[in-house]
Amino acid sequence: MTVSNGPQPDDGLSLRFWGVRGSTPVSGPEYAEFGGSTPCMEIRCGERLFLLDAGSGLGACGRHYRDGLMHALPQSIDLLFSHLHLDHTAGLPFFKPVILDAERTLNTYCGNLDGASAGEALERLFSPPLFPVSLDILPCTLAHHGFRAGETLTFADGARVDTILLNHPQGSVVYRFDHAGRRLCIISDIEHSDPWPDAALLDFVRGADLMVYDGMFTDCEYPVCRGWGHSTWQKGAELAQAAGVTAMAIIHLHPSHTDAMLHAMEAEMRVVMPSAFIARERQIVAVGAPARPTARSLPLALTA
Ligand SMILES: [Zn+2]
Ligand SMILES: [Zn+2]
Repeated sequence: MTVSNGPQPDDGLSLRFWGVRGSTPVSGPEYAEFGGSTPCMEIRCGERLFLLDAGSGLGACGRHYRDGLMHALPQSIDLLFSHLHLDHTAGLPFFKPVILDAERTLNTYCGNLDGASAGEALERLFSPPLFPVSLDILPCTLAHHGFRAGETLTFADGARVDTILLNHPQGSVVYRFDHAGRRLCIISDIEHSDPWPDAALLDFVRGADLMVYDGMFTDCEYPVCRGWGHSTWQKGAELAQAAGVTAMAIIHLHPSHTDAMLHAMEAEMRVVMPSAFIARERQIVAVGAPARPTARSLPLALTA
């Protein structure tokens, strides 16, 4: 597994974190390293792009491509929603290079609403007086697709993505990407069950090269946050180790967890699972690639 801030590999399976903060964006010098944007991830299966969630990190993703890289964005973009809570949707109208382009189509996929698409909820969210611009006046074509978590998504180009439902208020979907012999599972958001690990989830993530996991709380913090729909890095490590997962990245970072706290947490986590790390905004991970030091001056602790 290699981790960097440099260019993405053009083959294999890779992941870029555009937002890793949970619940609400944060800013300030104490968040400089891990970042303050809410969840948005870019998955590349070779050249094939998927976006996962439209948190505030989606704006940075759009700005990155706008600056001379628009050719790397397909005309038709697939955006998979884990679910529709605000921290996973509020960035949608700020994906400007795509939504302001009449030649582009943005397909959304939503699997936690009994087959309903995200269309109705997003239209409610992005309309006056909550938001000045309604989605139907955007130049791009928005196509909303609903499915039931548990189904395998199949796309016109033959791409396939597996899904199951997670324990979270209103449900949440985990997505599994298999490409070039590599497996990536993205779990955001989840509250672990008791007993743990959950048998169906264990089976779903088995053998993954990388599992991304909701580590909003620590085991110490969790007792007062029980029922809020989130988990801990400790439960993630239990699941990963039981399922033979090679590496784990923690996301959905608590808004009050500063860089200093996250560094301490990461050191503690790496004693339990040396290949685990806490995701940084803009970080790129080549899933399953052999570990080697990166060109940029990232701490070696990031090489997992
Ligand atoms: Zn969330
Ligand atoms: Zn949520």
